[in-house]
Amino acid sequence: MARIILSPNESFEHYHSHESRTIHVKGDIQITVGGMSYRMKNKECFDVPGNTPHTIINVGKEDAEVGCIGVGKSMQHKA
Ligand SMILES: [Zn+2]
Repeated sequence: MARIILSPNESFEHYHSHESRTIHVKGDIQITVGGMSYRMKNKECFDVPGNTPHTIINVGKEDAEVGCIGVGKSMQHKA
C-alpha cells in the first residue's frame, strides 16, 4: 500500500490506469474526483476508477495521511 502523507493545505494530484482504493488513515482529507469533492474521515474508503485523475487535499490543520492500494492487476502508482 502506498502511503501518502500531506502537510496542511498540501495537495497531491495523480492518476493511474488501474482502479484504486484510497483509505483514510488520519487527518482531514478532501478528495476530488471528476469535479466532485468528498470529505474523508474515520477510516473511510474511497474507490477511484482507472484513468481518472484524483486530487487528495489536506484541508485540516495537522498532517494527514491516506493509503492508496491498487485494485486489479497493476500496482503501479505514479504521480
Ligand atoms: Zn490514487
